[in-house]
Amino acid sequence: MKRKRSKSTAALLLTGLVFIVAACGDKQATPPEDSAGSDKPAVAAPGGAGTDPNPTQSPKVPELTGSPNPPKTTDPATSTGNGTGTGTGNGTDKPGGNNAAGDKGSAGNGDPKAVLVVAKPADVAVLVNKTYRLPDNYKPTDLVEPDIPFIFKEKSDKRLMRKEAAGALEKLVAAAKKDSVSLAGVSGFRTQATQKTLFDNYVKKDGEEAARKYSAVPGHSEHQTGLAMDISGSDGKCAASDCFANTKEAKWLAKNAAEHGFIIRYPKGKESITGYQYEPWHLRYVGTKIAKEITDKGITLEEYMQSANAVQAAK
Ligand SMILES: [Zn+2]
Repeated sequence: MKRKRSKSTAALLLTGLVFIVAACGDKQATPPEDSAGSDKPAVAAPGGAGTDPNPTQSPKVPELTGSPNPPKTTDPATSTGNGTGTGTGNGTDKPGGNNAAGDKGSAGNGDPKAVLVVAKPADVAVLVNKTYRLPDNYKPTDLVEPDIPFIFKEKSDKRLMRKEAAGALEKLVAAAKKDSVSLAGVSGFRTQATQKTLFDNYVKKDGEEAARKYSAVPGHSEHQTGLAMDISGSDGKCAASDCFANTKEAKWLAKNAAEHGFIIRYPKGKESITGYQYEPWHLRYVGTKIAKEITDKGITLEEYMQSANAVQAAK
């Protein structure tokens, strides 16, 4: 099943069909020990795994509809929306960040598989998920390597993050250390080409339909934004695996990440909204203010965008 993307320009209403699937779209890439796919679909692991109540549920339609556009963005420009929908894009006066730009979005007609291209990929609050994708071959221009330990030695794009996020991550790792919690990077930035290679390999191995359940389609991985980093304890045990959930490192992150501008992007119990299984190791930088609000309210980035848009629309 191929996702078809018709080329139409449009900010379409997101009728977002998000399939529940695994891994932040990135099972791969970071195999802690290379080859064991990290960020991989959670397969029950010793100890804590399996927590996921519904790992492979069937497609659910999140309520994303209408307005996943981020509050931030200012690019009314791109939103051409003829969307069918309401809320999409610029509906509200606000520039929607994500709002679909239209380059590639497909369908605005309610095609459940419609894919929208985000208008402001460099916005720190950009929403990238199974419905919203990055512009083709998007690569941030301010990638740097945070000065933190990694669980691998080689030089690699996996060490990179956008500058602001990298600085915040350094502070987070230093703060953890003060609490006697040693954290290390597992996988950060990933190019679309890398994601494609990974995804294609999975397709060869398991077929496309199966691959989509545990790996992100190229262009849809948060790692491509340069704002995500998978984190583990410095020993690398349970890196990007379910068993990470019960570690003291995971508990520390859940409690303290927001203070440094990060959220646990794929929380437990929100699989039908995020489209991914619980990934306690996948940190996403959104800035302190948004991170605190999301964490305090126990919501997801999708829900945050939706409510932010609603507030704007009401104005
Ligand atoms: Zn990840």
